Amino acid sequence: MQQKDYLIRAMLGDKQARIFALRTTEVTREAQVRHNCSPVATAALGRTLTIGLVLGAMLKGDQSVTIQIRGDGPLKGIMVSANSNGTAKGYVGNPHVDLPLNANGKLAVGQSVGQGNLHVIKDLGLKDPYQGTVPLQTGEIAEDFAYYFTHSEQTPSAVALGVLIGTDGAPLGSGGIIIQLLPEAINDEQFIASLEQKLESMPSVSSIFAEEKSLEEILGQIFVGMKLQILHEQEVAFRCDCSAHRFSKALITLGKEELQELIDLGETIETVCHFCSQTYNFKVDQLERLLSSI
Ligand SMILES: [Zn+2]
Repeated sequence: MQQKDYLIRAMLGDKQARIFALRTTEVTREAQVRHNCSPVATAALGRTLTIGLVLGAMLKGDQSVTIQIRGDGPLKGIMVSANSNGTAKGYVGNPHVDLPLNANGKLAVGQSVGQGNLHVIKDLGLKDPYQGTVPLQTGEIAEDFAYYFTHSEQTPSAVALGVLIGTDGAPLGSGGIIIQLLPEAINDEQFIASLEQKLESMPSVSSIFAEEKSLEEILGQIFVGMKLQILHEQEVAFRCDCSAHRFSKALITLGKEELQELIDLGETIETVCHFCSQTYNFKVDQLERLLSSI
């Protein structure tokens, strides 16, 4: 049986590094089906949803995080939003982008993203949201976030993200492993050397998550011989918080004049949620009721 999607936090060494590991195979499948994504778009969105869930897991309560990847490639950008309860939603600008495999025989995620910037916006419940922006490094997502954590959040980090796509175009496995050095270890050369050695010998992440292994087993194998303590486990899922009510409020904000113009068309209006591709239809009589409520 396929392993469920979940995230674990763990501590490595004597509180020298923290680890987030998560399987997101179902999250990525759901994103692909909802947006009808091509293989390369699925890999790009799946990787970004995976790291989004990690950023979400670093938050508390009703805090949320939004990732905007603005690149000049044919994917036309990626948007992901996540929160602390283990849910994320997201979309890409062009879900049908189709590119030949790159020189390494892999899906050309970096080429599809192109050059540009990575923006991370955290709503921490304060007056102004936290914003961090770094230039995209490769557009392969993992390298871009390793750079973001290290330079924007001043936390040296290793980020591995992978989506394995089967011959039928559907994801076989998806997930990520994020390792962050804690302040005690930043000058601990011996610990860093042993960590680097483990990371160099780590198998490709996309194939790891296609196997029938628990996250605990995966981490145990990668960090064999190092002290590893599993701290917390949390389910993760693709979920959108849109609703017909939310879209009716958006229609109301159009104002009386524009709403009257829509009514005058005499047709059912279809609205679509970018994040999950759910459609909400508003018939003329429903639009009239919205107008009279203004
Ligand atoms: Zn939605």
